[in-house]
Amino acid sequence: MEKLNMKTPLVEMDGDEMTRILWKMIKEELLLPFVDLKTEYYDLGLEHRNETDDQVTYDSAYAAKKYGVAVKCATITPNAARVKEYNLKEMWKSPNGTIRAIMDGTVFRAPIVVKGIEPCVKNWKKPITLARHAYGDVYKASEMKVPCAGKAELVFTAEDGTETRELIHEFKGPGVLQGMHNLQSSIESFAHSCFKYALDTKQDLWFATKDTISKKYDHTFKDIFQEIYDAQYKELFEKAGITYFYTLIDDAVARIMKAEGGFIWACKNYDGDVMSDMVSSAFGSLAMMTSVLVSPDGNFEYEAAHGTVQRHYYKHLAGEETSTNSVATIFAWSGALRKRGELDGLTDLMDFADKLEKATIATIESGKMTKDLALITTIENPTVLNSEAFIKAVRQELEALL
Ligand code: NAP
Ligand code: MG
Repeated sequence: MEKLNMKTPLVEMDGDEMTRILWKMIKEELLLPFVDLKTEYYDLGLEHRNETDDQVTYDSAYAAKKYGVAVKCATITPNAARVKEYNLKEMWKSPNGTIRAIMDGTVFRAPIVVKGIEPCVKNWKKPITLARHAYGDVYKASEMKVPCAGKAELVFTAEDGTETRELIHEFKGPGVLQGMHNLQSSIESFAHSCFKYALDTKQDLWFATKDTISKKYDHTFKDIFQEIYDAQYKELFEKAGITYFYTLIDDAVARIMKAEGGFIWACKNYDGDVMSDMVSSAFGSLAMMTSVLVSPDGNFEYEAAHGTVQRHYYKHLAGEETSTNSVATIFAWSGALRKRGELDGLTDLMDFADKLEKATIATIESGKMTKDLALITTIENPTVLNSEAFIKAVRQELEALL
């Protein structure tokens, strides 16, 4: 078979530990034999980040902005233990945080749905994609413990010195206080990312806040989404046959439990934090969640939602066999290749990405899977494969499809 051609390189961000091992296997078994893979390679492995004073992380993010599509392996976010383990010059920042700050945008997380790994919510037939706003609110709040009786006010001092005050509460005794904020620009880019992603994946978009109670704060989110939708996306949505649906957060939660899935649920920062863990665990496993960062100017960074699977890596180093699930990392590659194909007009590359995903799903549905899935599957007597054997089994399915 002749290898598929690419036009523009993918930005390849290599990573750490067990996922770095899987990364290499995936390339060797599932990509290089079939695709004349063009990538611009950045090694975000912790050792190389340390050698370059983390410059490589910044360079990779700028490359993602330049080329438009990146695929990222899981990376270690250093803590005190890692500083010691890797003899680091500094406790480098989270690579995902750095990349997100440069690319800007919203993280979309979707479960990979497979027969035999059933969601606990029995009417969920299609994936529910969670879009979490990643700036502000309670994550950038100031808090106070109120020690005694007194008056609390919100005070805004404009650049010209004018003060605006709003009474929070006349305390009769001790209590607590919190002040939080968000930015019009951040809410706008959140809205654009959500509308673009809905169009891109041809799925309905839901958005919910508590605007009936929070008449200024949450209502601003609602208004910004509606204004941007009406002005720039309404016609495109109608043409694509999808809808934008706004409701109250409690109503959204109630409807989600009765829904079939197959839509995007945009959430404010806190709602997204809480609801994404609920949705992902109800769908089965962190190792079956994809994650893509979509920037408001239309750049994409694909990755798995899980970490570097440190515990398995230490077993691997000790020469023991591992059974680490590579599905989300395979889907990061297929997502990036499909998007690259779409942007460059390469339909056979898009077709390859589809087949790679089909082959992965077919492997699991035929009863061959890694240990994490074998523990939760409804398939009887599954065959538990090690990390490498699973990837080789996917290759067999893929060759049959191609
Ligand atoms: P983790 O790597 O997600 O793994 C936590 C546990 O979940 C594993 O020990 C394993 O359970 C299970 N698991 C996760 N992914 C799996 C897979 N693909 N196949 C099978 N089992 C899987 O989280 P962590 O151990 O807390 O973090 C390790 C490192 O990853 C940390 O240094 C952290 O900074 C980094 N991290 C990176 C990212 C990212 O780059 N996006 C995200 C999160 C964490 P069992 O051990 O029970 O088998
Ligand atoms: Mg959380």
